[in-house]
Amino acid sequence: MNSSLETRINAQQQKQWLWIIVSALIVVVFAGYQFYTQSIPYLAEKIAAAIPKSIYQAIDENSLTTLDDSELKSTKLSEAKQQELQLLFDKLVKDKADSEREFKLKFRNWNDQANAMALANGTVVITDAMVNLTTDQQELSAVLLHEIGHVEHNHVMESLVSSSIVYVSLSFLLGDISAVSNIALQGTVVGIHNSYSRQAELEADKYALTKLNALYGSDQAIKSVLTKLEKEHNSEFSWLSTHPSFEERIDKIDK
Ligand SMILES: [Zn+2]
Repeated sequence: MNSSLETRINAQQQKQWLWIIVSALIVVVFAGYQFYTQSIPYLAEKIAAAIPKSIYQAIDENSLTTLDDSELKSTKLSEAKQQELQLLFDKLVKDKADSEREFKLKFRNWNDQANAMALANGTVVITDAMVNLTTDQQELSAVLLHEIGHVEHNHVMESLVSSSIVYVSLSFLLGDISAVSNIALQGTVVGIHNSYSRQAELEADKYALTKLNALYGSDQAIKSVLTKLEKEHNSEFSWLSTHPSFEERIDKIDK
């Protein structure tokens, strides 16, 4: 065979191999993406539902302790204000007596940031700045109901399970098993901070809207709270930053 023909055949073979590799990569990336976006949420929902109540409670308490040891400080709200909020919260969860979760309200100061969050077993933490930002019971209810919605839809545990699946898959793929030991801690923090999917946020908003309408005949409070937060929004750790865009939420509420 003459050498120029041989070079041409080699070049052609290389090209074919390149295509095979590129196609295989596309398949792997696509399968990974499908697994990540479809299978993980499905698996997470099933696994989270099967986790016993005692584990929910342990994770709930552990999350609060971790936050108290790092970012959260004691509340500066007056006893009277705390009592008033507690009464409102009790009213909002009155119909949840048969729920698997235990709804509790906790007051904390978080770097003067207006924030609220739900933990795995139904503990809802609201910050002083968030309480002070709201002007009436309807706005407070909007914030609390959004968080209660996260608990009702089991978003906290599902997000924790999802991030654990991602960590385990990655550590198997990358061969670093030490990552597995950090799952609980990292998962907790990720779960609380911002791994709620956009869909989860919109579900929590929808829950709040329905309840607000039933209670007050209007759901405008959620919009007014979001508008105030948007005006004051100056930190990456506010209630808005861990949620979908302000415009997107207002847009969905208006529909
Ligand atoms: Zn949320």
